[in-house]
Amino acid sequence: MHKNFKGIEKTVFGHGSFNQLDEILAERRGDNAKFMLFVVDQYFKDKPLAKRIPAKPEDSVVFVDVDVHEPTTEQIDNLRDSILKTKGLPAGVVGIGGGSVMDIAKAVSLMFTNEGSSTLYQGLNLIKKPGIYHCGVPTISGTGAEVSMTAVLTGPVKKLGLKCEWTVFNQVVLDPELIATVPRNWWFYTGMDTYIHCVESENGQYNNAYSHAYAEQAMKLCRDIYLGEQSGQNAENDEKLMVASLMGGLSLTYSEVGVCHALSYGLSKILGTRHCYANCLAFNHLGDFYPEGVAEFKEMIRKHKIDLPQGLAKEWTDEQITAMATVSYNLPHMWNHAIGSDWKDKITVKSIEELFRRL
Ligand code: NAD
Ligand code: ZN
Repeated sequence: MHKNFKGIEKTVFGHGSFNQLDEILAERRGDNAKFMLFVVDQYFKDKPLAKRIPAKPEDSVVFVDVDVHEPTTEQIDNLRDSILKTKGLPAGVVGIGGGSVMDIAKAVSLMFTNEGSSTLYQGLNLIKKPGIYHCGVPTISGTGAEVSMTAVLTGPVKKLGLKCEWTVFNQVVLDPELIATVPRNWWFYTGMDTYIHCVESENGQYNNAYSHAYAEQAMKLCRDIYLGEQSGQNAENDEKLMVASLMGGLSLTYSEVGVCHALSYGLSKILGTRHCYANCLAFNHLGDFYPEGVAEFKEMIRKHKIDLPQGLAKEWTDEQITAMATVSYNLPHMWNHAIGSDWKDKITVKSIEELFRRL
């Protein structure tokens, strides 16, 4: 069986496209209780962008601090309950921010129409009804959250996405001007998420002409952005990074991620390390799995003088390392893709522990 995926319904791309948001939302404003819910990264609270949000007096604008923790099921349930109780069902949700805010917007749009706690729906195709209209406006690029069919949530038991066709945004607004203020380290770590998506998507049994075409182009863009003559944060590269993020996300959607993401999930689950940073920590030591990708990654690290600590594993207990390796081992689709269908003959919890000890 071949994968059959739903894409974003509408995409607008280009400098200043954020100014079109008002017009885009206008045609949806008559739905449900006739107000929009804007979920916005708190970083923008006192920045000029906050004044440009096309909110009407009846709308709700909620600022969220994404630095305290990654999106949680409790946070989504509380946001949904408080909005329903005070104002009713919104016409739509607009997420303005990075992967964290986009996941909150996707998740809450689903939870407005699906009863009970979001913990009930963590997994594939558990959501029962389509959510309300939702629009994503990325302000940092790399995770591919703008295009993916999952909204990653940390719950009391698991860190797992609400994953189904209805999770995909109805509308995405890609305005490269919005990512200009991203701090250099985040620009690097989050951008590398897309680079790693491409390396992993390409190196495994699910790679195909479709995922390859996206990965090849996204990697070319990443090389321009991080290694080219005009490398670094500038207007042209911001355009390229927004497109690379989208294409890297599409590449992995039609293929699969691999060893680095399997390790990264272990790190995030046990130590709370953030996704893109965790990827960089792990990828740095995976030269035997991805020799060319890791060599190029190290060149990018050197070029941009990025701080990536080593020797972290010395601080971890054996129990923590076993716990991380167990989380990683329990992602069979990633190992199956990266190593092959006989992966269990080659990869064990013990051998994954050794990979963690390299960090
Ligand atoms: P983020 O949303 O966590 O933000 C990272 C930091 O950058 C924050 O401090 C934020 O305030 C800041 N920031 C964002 N935009 C800015 C701007 N324009 N200027 C200055 N600062 C800005 O970043 P992320 O790396 O995009 O997202 C990580 C999250 O995405 C994790 O929660 C992860 O689980 C999730 N994720 C989701 C998917 C998916 O497919 N749904 C894929 C990968 C990761
Ligand atoms: Zn990723």
